[in-house]
Amino acid sequence: MPSPQGYWADEGRAALHHRGVPMVLLITQAQTEAIRQHGARDYPSECCGALLGKVNGEAKQAMEVAALKNIRHNPSYAQELLPVDDLARETERNRFLIDPLEQLLMEKDARSRGLDVLGYYHSHPDHPARPSGYDREHAWPWYSYVIVSVERGVAKDLTCWVLAEDGGVFDPESVEVVE
Ligand SMILES: [Zn+2]
Repeated sequence: MPSPQGYWADEGRAALHHRGVPMVLLITQAQTEAIRQHGARDYPSECCGALLGKVNGEAKQAMEVAALKNIRHNPSYAQELLPVDDLARETERNRFLIDPLEQLLMEKDARSRGLDVLGYYHSHPDHPARPSGYDREHAWPWYSYVIVSVERGVAKDLTCWVLAEDGGVFDPESVEVVE
């Protein structure tokens, strides 16, 4: 399955996997604020980044928000990695793609500090914070996918989604804002 973050095998994923057990994402107010600010900063383009942290039983505890570049800003490079059907319609304003090299370095750095990739976030400029079909098709099970809507440059709703094991449905994930 191709994925925005799927070009490099993620050896950690199998070890992290709690098959079929619903998990909860624990995130701080400051972390949600960092995601909102990134969304506003990159408006009208989609921003993207990763959530790093630790798994404690059935909780994914976010400890860091790592901003990443949306390489849909570089269409010729992005097309080589994960082509879109319609380059005129599918741009950095409604698609994001993480550079696999930046992703690899980010994952290595996280692991060296004892952190795991818990999920990813991106923004929906002038669109609701609901996953698109494209988002679902390019997601992996288990990971948390945070979406922030940014309306006219102002960050609004923030939601979180998790893909079912069979890849069929993208369900809302439980989120607790903690201190
Ligand atoms: Zn999206």
